[in-house]
Amino acid sequence: MSTEPDFLPYGRQLIEADDIDAVVEVLRSDYLTTGPTIGRFETALAEAVEAEWAVAVTSGTAALHAACDAVGIEVGDEVIVPAISFVASANCVRYLGGEPVFVDVDPDTGLIDVEDVKAKLSPRTKAIVPVHMTGAVADVDALSALGRPIIQDAAHALGAKVPCTGLATWSFHPVKHVCTGEGGAITGVDPAQERRLRAFRNHGLVRDPEHLRHPSPGPWYYEQQFLGHNLRMTDLSAALGVSQLAKLGRFVDRRRALAARYGQLLQDVPQVQTVASSAYHLYVVQIDFEALGRGRAELMAYLRDRGIGTQVHYIPIPMQPYYQDRDADAASFPGALRWYQRSLSLPLFPAMDDSDVDRVVDHLMRWLEN
Ligand SMILES: *Cc1c(COP(=O)(O)O)cnc(C)c1O
Repeated sequence: MSTEPDFLPYGRQLIEADDIDAVVEVLRSDYLTTGPTIGRFETALAEAVEAEWAVAVTSGTAALHAACDAVGIEVGDEVIVPAISFVASANCVRYLGGEPVFVDVDPDTGLIDVEDVKAKLSPRTKAIVPVHMTGAVADVDALSALGRPIIQDAAHALGAKVPCTGLATWSFHPVKHVCTGEGGAITGVDPAQERRLRAFRNHGLVRDPEHLRHPSPGPWYYEQQFLGHNLRMTDLSAALGVSQLAKLGRFVDRRRALAARYGQLLQDVPQVQTVASSAYHLYVVQIDFEALGRGRAELMAYLRDRGIGTQVHYIPIPMQPYYQDRDADAASFPGALRWYQRSLSLPLFPAMDDSDVDRVVDHLMRWLEN
């Protein structure tokens, strides 16, 4: 990109001229929402992730909410959620009155600990939500063998090979692989779940004559068969999504190449452990700040002063006051705490140059040597 050392955020979108043209084309068309571009986006996404179908919604959070409905989560149901994720992975269960049951993660990968899932399974467990943290793929096969519906939170994993088990949810927030402004989708294989999701995103309305409860009196007729929401993606977003999805291969390749460069430059730095991923939504390094006797906040401020943005993914969800009020005990997730204490996400997005990686590593090493 430019030779000026611009501020490097930890992640950002890459919007090109044809992306802009695609959105403008929709603006000049008849349908700004619920138009033909939604179907095009859904077809392209289903193809990209090798699912039977995709249902586009307004965000990754909406996708998780709808997926919880589609597997039948109701008041009092338990859903297993890893202690390390974005809060949306747990909140989606609460929207339906269910209770997230947190499980620990591997401190080196941030991925769900299958043994802890087995330990916390109960007759009330209605689903499991593995998170493909950073774009590394969780052990979905082992979880699926436990006999509960699986909702894969795949917000980090577009471009990774995610199994076609149960439902998968995606986010198209600007820091993710493919951007639609705000946006999300659910993908899957079961046609009954697809029908339920399409109704859920539109108030619970059903129009298909084959699935009406009462005889149709005429072409205006529809039925609200359950309580849904308005989670409809706009055609503006879908147009951006179609244009961006066509670039997914290039975007993921670039992320992997940048990650490989980080890995090479950091391999002989004893204080830094790198975290392997597949899709590389995030480039996480782990540093034992306690052993160093220096704080992560100090490093983040040092890098920020030099034009480098970093972030921590994530604060364990059981540490959030909302979940502490619901009796979550953060201390009982040692893997999650260890992951949290050591992790730092370095800048990673497809518009970065190799020299940006070099600059980040250079400043990181200077801080470590000081
Ligand atoms: C981004 C993200 C979400 C939520 O997606 P939004 O589109 O921001 O609502 C959920 N889970 C994980 C793991 C995410 O990274």
